Parts: sequence; C-alpha cells; structure tokens
Amino acid sequence: MSLTVLMNAGPWLSVPPPGYGGIENVIATLVPELRRLGVRVVLASVDSSTLPVDEKFSVFPDGQFHALQRPYNQVCGISQAHLNGVVRALHSRDDIDLVHDHVEAVGLATLAAMGPDAPPALHTLHWDLAKHPALYGNVDGGDRVRVNGVSASQLARAPRALREHSVGHVHLSTPLAVDADRRPRAEKGDYLIILGRINPGKGQDVGARLARRVGVPLVLAGPVGPYHRPEDLAAAGDEARQNPDVRFFYDEVAPHVDGDLVRWVGTVAGQERDDLLAGARASLFPLRWEEPGGTAVVESLALGTPVVATARGCLPELIEHGRTGLLTTDEEELGDLLLAAGLLDPDECRREAAVRFTPAVMAEKYVGLYERVRQLAAAP
Ligand code: UDP
Repeated sequence: MSLTVLMNAGPWLSVPPPGYGGIENVIATLVPELRRLGVRVVLASVDSSTLPVDEKFSVFPDGQFHALQRPYNQVCGISQAHLNGVVRALHSRDDIDLVHDHVEAVGLATLAAMGPDAPPALHTLHWDLAKHPALYGNVDGGDRVRVNGVSASQLARAPRALREHSVGHVHLSTPLAVDADRRPRAEKGDYLIILGRINPGKGQDVGARLARRVGVPLVLAGPVGPYHRPEDLAAAGDEARQNPDVRFFYDEVAPHVDGDLVRWVGTVAGQERDDLLAGARASLFPLRWEEPGGTAVVESLALGTPVVATARGCLPELIEHGRTGLLTTDEEELGDLLLAAGLLDPDECRREAAVRFTPAVMAEKYVGLYERVRQLAAAP
C-alpha cells in the first residue's frame, strides 16, 4: 500500500512513553503494524521519541508532561507551538496523504482551520467527551476532518456535531498482546493492582478503602499529577497541592495508604510494570468516570490478569462478566467481587486479548478508516 500518514502524537510525552502514557502507548503499538502493512509514517512528536518511523519531526526536545500543571494559557501555548510545527510541515510538502491526529481538540481545530489546503485528517478522540463538552465546541472540519472514538460508549456520549463526523470506533490495543519478548515472568501473587493516573475518575480512593475492608493487599501504580515517584512528591512540598490530582491523593487516597496493605509505588514502567500487572490476582478499576478507551484494561487481559471494575464507559465492551472479569454498578459490591476474582481463569483473559486486542487487528481497522476518510474527502 502506498500511503504516507503524518501521525501527530503531540508534545506531552515521547513515543513510546517512558512509563505512563495511554495515547503514546497506542501510537507505539499502532505504528509498527501500520508500517508492516506498507504505510509510510511521519511522526510529529518530541525529539526524544525513539519509535522507529520513516521520518520524524518535533518542536520540543522532550516531553512537556511536567508543564501540564502550569496555567491553562501556558498549556495551550505548548500545544499550539507544536501544532504550528505540524501546520508548517503540511504547508511545505505535498506527499502526506492523511493526518492521523491525537492532540485533543486543539489538533482538530487546527486541521479544520487549514481548510482544503490540508490533507484529509482522522482525529482520534481519547477523552470522555460528555465530561468536557466545551473542549470540542463547534469544531467542524467539514468533509476533510473526521473523528473516530476508542469505544462505542465514548462516541455515544460525544457532542452531536462530532458524532456526525465520526467514521467508527477502534478499540485500543496493546503491545503486550503479541510481543513475545515482553511476556511476564511473574507468578500470580496475592495482591490487587490499580494501574493508572491517580485521579478521582480512576477511583483509587474507593479501591483503597475496599481493599482494606476485605483485607486484600493493593498496589497503586501510576503518577500523581506530574510526580512519578513518592520521593519526588514528598520533595515538592506544599506547592504541589496546586495540582488537583495531588490534592485528591493527599485528601482521599493517602489516608488509606498504610505502606503495608495499601501501597503507592509511583509510576512503574517496562518489565517491572508487566510483571507487577501479570502477578496480580486482579486489576481493579473502581471508576467514577466513563472510561473512554482503557489501555490498562486491555493490557491487564493480555497479561492474564482478570479485571474487577465498575461497569462504566468502555468496560462492558472490553470485559465479559464472569469470564474475563467481574463488573458491577454498585461500588460496595466491588469489595465482594475482589474476593471472587481469584476464581477467574487467567488463560481466558489472555485468549480474549490475543483474538480481539492485537496490534494487527487495530492497525487493519485503522487502515480501513484511513481509506474511508480519504474517500469521504474526495467525494464531490
Ligand atoms: N502506565 C504505566 N505505568 C504506570 C501507570 C500507567 O506504564 O505507572 C501506562 C498503562 O500501562 C497504560 C497507560 O499508562 O498503557 C494509561 O492509559 P489508560 O488508557 O489506561 O489511562 P489514561 O489514558 O486515561 O490515563
């Protein structure tokens, strides 16, 4: 296939990400498979990205994740500087057949504003849009800019204008599903894990409280705001509390963290992350938001760890209750389900992931979407 795609990963983290990074993990999974299918990939990211691509360019030397807690206008300034680089690149060459953009509303708005000079674009939605309706406002890229979501539930909650421009949904996938070098070495241990940003939507406070109630050890892994290690957060002092996730951690989660039954280990990465996830009796997602895609959910299945979760967002699409996990709408019932998770079969989880959530499946679906977006843009 002769298709050149400009993959816009944004300025926040390198690709693959050093640890945490849902969007960047999706891109790192997708791109090698696209290239295997013959797609040329030009990556717009940061200089420190190491993902093999045909060409890359960047505005920033490394990921600007640490700046996300600065005032809103500064955060937008970083996004816009990166996107100006993308726009300059698109104006200076005519070999890009399609832009695949992952940079929230700003990316979509920028592509829409370029008008017919820009190649057709597919913008992948990564957020719960009902929660941020203003984010996408009235952005309308006409027939040239289309959107896709990462789950049916996410698209159903999207503003109408976006739904009218959508071309379908593709579930997130994971490198863990097929990469034989990254198979876990861990035996199953007697603990639960919540892998993800520490954030009210991810519900670590609920998980920590329930784990203590039923007496099962719980590991919380993930960054608190921009802080990856407990010692970095401690060293940041009171100023760190400006970040809402830091406040959430101190006020709602930390009171349950006793360092024994419930531990926060900070961000985990690479083999350490895979082993921790694979060794858990179950992964817990006590959600308070409509999880739009859930990379960590799929990674958990791929590593043979059943999922116990609130039945919200994409979870009912990803998890089959009673086979690959246990779902409930009742927060208190989650505690009982934690005890039952050991009865589920890890091999069923792996089998499910190996069929439904492989990088090859995701890449094929995206190539189909690219074709559709180009046809729609070319139609009179
Ligand atoms: N992650 C990680 N280390 C951590 C916490 C998270 O590598 O300590 C990764 C996780 O494996 C997943 C991604 O960060 O690939 C989070 O993506 P997800 O879609 O689950 O959550 P969100 O994008 O909402 O933060």
